[in-house]
This record gives sequence, structure tokens and C-alpha cells, in this order.
Amino acid sequence: MNDPFSKTTVESARRTLTARFKSAGIDSAELDARMLAGAALGLDLTGLITATTRTLTHGEAICLENFMQRRLAGEPVARILGQKEFWGLALHLSPATLVPRPDTETVVELAWRVMGKLPRRDVPLRIVDIGTGSGAILLAILSELPNTFGIGTDISVAALTTASRNAARLGFARRAAFVACDYATALSGPFDLIVSNPPYIRSADIKGLPTEVRDFDPLAALDGGADGLDAYRRIAPEAARLLAPGGTLIMEVGQGQSGDVRGLMAAAGLKLRGPPQADLAGIQRAVAFQKRSR
Ligand code: SAM
Ligand code: GLN
Repeated sequence: MNDPFSKTTVESARRTLTARFKSAGIDSAELDARMLAGAALGLDLTGLITATTRTLTHGEAICLENFMQRRLAGEPVARILGQKEFWGLALHLSPATLVPRPDTETVVELAWRVMGKLPRRDVPLRIVDIGTGSGAILLAILSELPNTFGIGTDISVAALTTASRNAARLGFARRAAFVACDYATALSGPFDLIVSNPPYIRSADIKGLPTEVRDFDPLAALDGGADGLDAYRRIAPEAARLLAPGGTLIMEVGQGQSGDVRGLMAAAGLKLRGPPQADLAGIQRAVAFQKRSR
């Protein structure tokens, strides 16, 4: 179909988009259509409802068709828009950053449960987010706990550039710093909280991932080695070295990895701290560990 959106109304464009996504088997067809139409036409949800009879301009029609073709080719909406909401924060993305997942909000919830109970101190709490990507976990925690200062690390300098810009745009520049290094090797502690959503997909499983992930998320953000646990092996002794006595490590884990990760942390002297946090699908997703107090 040529120029599917030429001289159509907002309502008809949204319907066409939804129908094309549905027939391509996209589960979130209606939501995707609303988000892409809203972005192409500069309309929020209310605008999409109230401006239904407005005719698209030529430029809008071309933009929307481009968005549609990209989505039909498997590109996620967040990649097309270049941003994703995480914990209520609008985070910009780049090709070097993972699209932050709703499941990862469990790490923030658990951090808030653990750290929110601590008495406020004169000295800010010191936090590290290992493999910060877009800065998602670190910035979400800084937004909840005003008395915190955090460092995000990543092996990807390009990801850190995006994270640092997100911190500045969201008003956290004075409480966030970013360091390029292998896990946390460039840091010296002590830290009160370490969080991480490391790569944890088994190398052999990468080729079977959905297109949206396999072809658009950076491989370095996904590949956890032969058994998916390489990053946990590296982070366990690093966390033990860097945590203050009584400090907490919170790790995101893949489905079924919680037991193995507990074993690796126990071997480094970090014991389980409270129950793991399940995601919306009921999968144990965030696990907290504690370094013994002296
Ligand atoms: N924290 C972000 C989030 O939750 O959306 C990104 C998580 S992504 C699953 C893992 C991140 O770890 C990626 O940004 C990747 O570049 C980074 N990474 C991979 N290997 C690393 C290493 N050896 N040292 C530091 N960071 C690494
Ligand atoms: N949760 C991501 C996925 O399902 C994987 C990210 C990771 O390896 N930490 O694709």
C-alpha cells in the first residue's frame, strides 16, 4: 500500500496502524499504534482522542509510515522513539543502551525497601550501579532517596554518555558520577548499596531471543557467557570488597538463576537478606545480599 497515511484523519491513521500491527502478530498493537501515532503527530493521549478528525500533514504522514515500517521490521517502540519510561522517569536511549525493562523496577523496589528503612544520616548513602546502561536503576534510586550519592559503571563508554546525559536532564548531575571500567574494578569502597542488572542470558540462547531484543539490544548487555552466570562470578568478590560492613548488594537475576546466584554470593561471604522480590509474572527477579557487620 502506497502512502497509507496520506490525507487521512488522525483517527483513521491510528486504526490503520493498529490493524497493520495486529495482522503482523504484534501483541501490543493498540498501545504501540497510540504511542507511535502520538509521537509522529505531536499529540498526547488526550490529543489523540480530541483531534480525531484532523487531517495529517504530508510530513506527519511520511513520519508515521517510517515508524510503522520500522515497527513491522521488529524494532521496539522504545528504540523508534529513542526513549523509555522507567520508574516514572523518561530515559533517553542510544544503540549502546539496553531498553530498561519493567521487570528491573523490582531491583528499585527492593532497594527502597532495604534503604528506605535506614535512619537519615549526615553523610549521604553511597551507591554503585554496576553496568548502569541508560542509568535506569541508579537514577530511579536517586529519585527516591534524596540523601544518596551514586556511581554508575559500564564497559561501554557510549552507554555512559547516555546515562550521564539522562542524569543531567533529570536534575541528578550533582548526585551521580559515571565511570568506565570492567564491572567495578576501578572503584574503591566502602559503599552502602550496590545494585546490578548484569548480562545474564546464556550465550547459546541469544539466537533464540525475540527480534526486538536480539537485533536491537546491545549484545554486551545480554550475553552472560556459557551458563549465563559469568557476571555474577565477577561481581561477587567485587561486591564483597567494596561493601561497607552491613552493606547490601541487590542483583537482578534471570528466570531460575536465583539459587545459583545465592551460591556464588555465599562463597564470597555475602548472605541472603530477606525474601527475593518477584516480578509481575511471579518470577524471583531481584535478590538482596548482605555483607556481615564487623
Ligand atoms: N542497568 C541497565 C538496566 O537495567 O536497564 C542496563 C543493564 S544491561 C542488562 C547490562 C549492562 O552491563 C550493559 O549496559 C552492559 O554494557 C554492561 N556490561 C557488560 N559487561 C560489563 C563489564 N564487564 N563491566 C561493566 N559493565 C558491563
Ligand atoms: N531481561 C532482559 C531480557 O529478557 C535481559 C537483560 C539481562 O541480561 N540482564 O532480554
